Amino acid sequence: MHIDLHIHTAPLSACSYIDPVELVQEADRMKLDGICLTEHQVLWDPVEVDRLSREAGIKIFRGNEFTTNQGDVLVFGFYEDIKELMMIQELREAVQKAGGFMIAAHPFRGFKTFGIGQLQMTVEQAAKRKVFEFVDAVEIGNGKLSQDENDMARKVAEKLSLPGTGGSDAHRVDEIATWVTVFEKDIQDENQLVAELHAGRFKAVNRGQKTEGR
Ligand SMILES: [Zn+2]
Ligand SMILES: [Zn+2]
Repeated sequence: MHIDLHIHTAPLSACSYIDPVELVQEADRMKLDGICLTEHQVLWDPVEVDRLSREAGIKIFRGNEFTTNQGDVLVFGFYEDIKELMMIQELREAVQKAGGFMIAAHPFRGFKTFGIGQLQMTVEQAAKRKVFEFVDAVEIGNGKLSQDENDMARKVAEKLSLPGTGGSDAHRVDEIATWVTVFEKDIQDENQLVAELHAGRFKAVNRGQKTEGR
């Protein structure tokens, strides 16, 4: 199953221009089997997700993108409504209690621009970032990042033996499906999604950058 694990929609994410109805149509056109709506610390109403999913004939799952003191984290299987910035340790404890799954989102976004690239940060050094002590997986393919940034995430994930996921991080409808996570098993609901994430039966796949620049 090809699932885009990282998508923002309007109006739940102020930064996004994606209309949910256009999104599901495009997801279907792109032959995705499912999408995850990962807004910034706001969850979709499950009834609305259900309705949208049935109308479109594709699976839609709820996730959440938390801002923590150690960077952004994608969270699945955790449905508490928390608005404030969280300490990663606190978030980890709460998510683990709920049986949820945490992914370090775009961990090396901008690492070239803030100069570490020039300083030639090694994979060993990069792997010491605190966020990696508190996650179950690393987003090794993010559609908004450069190849260098994604490559660093992939190398770090390999070094730490953490599984890697892919997602577009789309904020516009033509940005979806650039990176997806391909699951071995059929996934029907959010519980199965979380179970398959924990089981590690997936891989990140690049389906190609569709847009110019970013
Ligand atoms: Zn983010
Ligand atoms: Zn995002």
